[in-house]
Amino acid sequence: MELTIKNISKEYEGTSVLNNVTFQLKPGVYGLLGANGAGKTTLFRILCGLLKPTKGSVLYNQQEILKQADNYRSILGFLPQDFRYYDEFTGLKFMRYIAALKGLNNNTAKKRCVELLKLVGLEAVKNKKIKEYSGGMKQRLGIAQSMINDPEILILDEPTVGLDPKERVRFRNLISSFSTEKIVILSTHIVSDIEYIADEILVLKRGNLETRGTASELLKEIQGAVWECLVPESSVKRLMQIYTISNQKHTENGMVLRIVNQEMPVENAQPVPPTLEDLYLYYFREDVVEL
Ligand code: ADP
Repeated sequence: MELTIKNISKEYEGTSVLNNVTFQLKPGVYGLLGANGAGKTTLFRILCGLLKPTKGSVLYNQQEILKQADNYRSILGFLPQDFRYYDEFTGLKFMRYIAALKGLNNNTAKKRCVELLKLVGLEAVKNKKIKEYSGGMKQRLGIAQSMINDPEILILDEPTVGLDPKERVRFRNLISSFSTEKIVILSTHIVSDIEYIADEILVLKRGNLETRGTASELLKEIQGAVWECLVPESSVKRLMQIYTISNQKHTENGMVLRIVNQEMPVENAQPVPPTLEDLYLYYFREDVVEL
């Protein structure tokens, strides 16, 4: 099984949002990392066949998805960012409704809805109306509905938004157990979300696929470019204007700064092993400053 994204470009009124994006996915878990506005949602909508690209195509097993719409829909699961719930439905009724839309037969639907609600930890509240759910509970329901048809390809747009740390751990475990022989692609701008679960990370920057690789492959790119140094508090403001600072910590003797920079930023700075947080700043420092 493979999903091929071939020379995808998308323009809105002459403004380029995706620029000749090409990659291929085999079974595995992929994290799409990008700042706000990088084009993640646009790319996902194209991958789902909900939006037509200006140029390029998406192929599922070598055939264009738009030419096999029904077949493709039947193997696809999607959690959109702006997922709409029906507040008056109970969690279970909502799941049954989605199951019916996906064309599951009654017996399969019954079993699958209960199973999934249990998996996302909503079993105890399955008969409560969605309007009584917390944000995290709604998000978990969104994740459950995306898996209703046991999809071969699962696309999750910002799935961990609104989840507390415990819910995040549950989500990670759910994805790990679900993902065997499937393609799971999830977007986030929260690095720790994908640090543990993604086999591979795709970095999307302002509509361009900058790089892809495993966490350790990507971290090699900034090996030797992350530093820690002790500086007087009075110089912090100036250093912040010059360098990308990924962390700062007060100590009795001054400030310890963590700086992402190719060259040694200040005398006596010590090189330290990079993390994905540093990598994110390395790629998105301009976007972070703009925000
Ligand atoms: P992300 O999901 O990474 O935050 P999006 O794909 O939502 O990024 O948006 C990428 C860019 O495309 C943004 O600058 C956004 O304003 C623009 N964009 C998205 N949808 C539309 C649209 N329907 N019309 C015009 N511009 C859009």
